[in-house]
Amino acid sequence: MINNHGIPMTGRRIHRLDGSTYVIPYDARTKQCIFSVGRNYLNSLLLQESEKYENVERFFNHKLIEANLKKGKLKFLKTDTGETVEVSTDLVIGADGAFSGVRKAMMKQPLFDYSQKYIEHGYLELCIPADENGEFQMPANFLHIWPRGEFMMIALPNQDCSWTVTLFMPFTNFKKLDTKEMLIEFFEKYFPDSIPLIGKQKLIEDFFATSPSALVAVKCRPYHVDDKALLIGDAAHAVVPFYGQGMNAGFEDCSILDQLFQKHHDNLADILEEFSRTRWENTFAISDLAMYNYVEMRDLVNRPSYRIRKAMDDFIFWLLPDIWVPLYNSVTFMYIPYSQCIKNRQWQNRMLLYTVVAVGFLVFGSLLAVR
Ligand SMILES: Cc1cc2nc3c(=O)[nH]c(=O)nc-3n(C[C@H](O)[C@H](O)[C@H](O)COP(=O)(O)OP(=O)(O)OC[C@H]3O[C@@H](n4cnc5c(N)ncnc54)[C@H](O)[C@@H]3O)c2cc1C
Repeated sequence: MINNHGIPMTGRRIHRLDGSTYVIPYDARTKQCIFSVGRNYLNSLLLQESEKYENVERFFNHKLIEANLKKGKLKFLKTDTGETVEVSTDLVIGADGAFSGVRKAMMKQPLFDYSQKYIEHGYLELCIPADENGEFQMPANFLHIWPRGEFMMIALPNQDCSWTVTLFMPFTNFKKLDTKEMLIEFFEKYFPDSIPLIGKQKLIEDFFATSPSALVAVKCRPYHVDDKALLIGDAAHAVVPFYGQGMNAGFEDCSILDQLFQKHHDNLADILEEFSRTRWENTFAISDLAMYNYVEMRDLVNRPSYRIRKAMDDFIFWLLPDIWVPLYNSVTFMYIPYSQCIKNRQWQNRMLLYTVVAVGFLVFGSLLAVR
């Protein structure tokens, strides 16, 4: 799939206010990259894959409206005909997204912990079309970012040489842009180089065609009810999208489950219990990392302190690749559990602090000796 469809992005391409750009590579040492993959393509690929299994039946337009998870009973509304359908099952796996109906039913269970956090920022999608020759209008192999402190715009390349552009901004700022003049004035001030790429008319049409959407992070546990029900994917751990790990974390749930089925020889009670007990720490960690990465993407990348730290990380990684893996690399390019990535980073922070203090003492001591 990646080779046929994914577009490699080797780094962040940062757009300054004057339209000039510079690149911050994701992995200067081993040249690894992330890939931009179309959502529709991925969905149809998963559907095609499911067709290979004779024991998989697919039902569309069925909305879960009631669930008794202890008994494995579900009630669906057929959204095309208005009929309801009731089914009984041995195991319910709720992979029904950030606003999961299965999770709602699970919340009635005693000892189920739940918290959700809406960030103050919403997002709105725009588009940079392909040029008149059907080519990309910007260098394709980058994630383009216009970081502006309190808000940011990003662009991801698509297979048809267009770009999916997403503006992330506080809802209060979105509200202020209520006329086309104010919108253009805002873009001329903060994203001037994007206006000719999007096209002024298209920018106005696309911007006012929809309202900004909210971003929610969900933490909950345990993920299971006895041997009857389990949450995976966003239903279990919706995160804000700034680490590009939401979907990956969902796929990782599947591979962990696969391993647990083998380990416990299909004993559902043990599989679900171990999944719940061991998974939450890492999903809570990626939730925190994703929140942090928003600040990094929209603000910190502009700061010299960030670039100095990144250069130091890259240098030490080059020198000691087995000991010092920068945070982004460990999260994105390695199978290191998310919580371990945070612990590594905290250890690196301590090491750098000790080094700075030790060097400070040495310099101070030698200055005193000279006097
Ligand atoms: C703006 C944005 C950008 C993102 N970018 C990235 C990225 O770059 N990389 C990445 O890894 N992740 C990204 N994500 C996160 C990613 O989209 C999600 O983590 C991923 O889609 C979760 O998959 P899922 O199958 O768990 O849930 P979903 O994709 O939400 O699928 C849930 C499914 O359940 C169905 N459903 C919901 N309720 C019911 C019901 N009551 N009855 C029946 N069916 C129901 C829905 O129709 C849907 O088909 C991004 C998210 C956002 C919002």
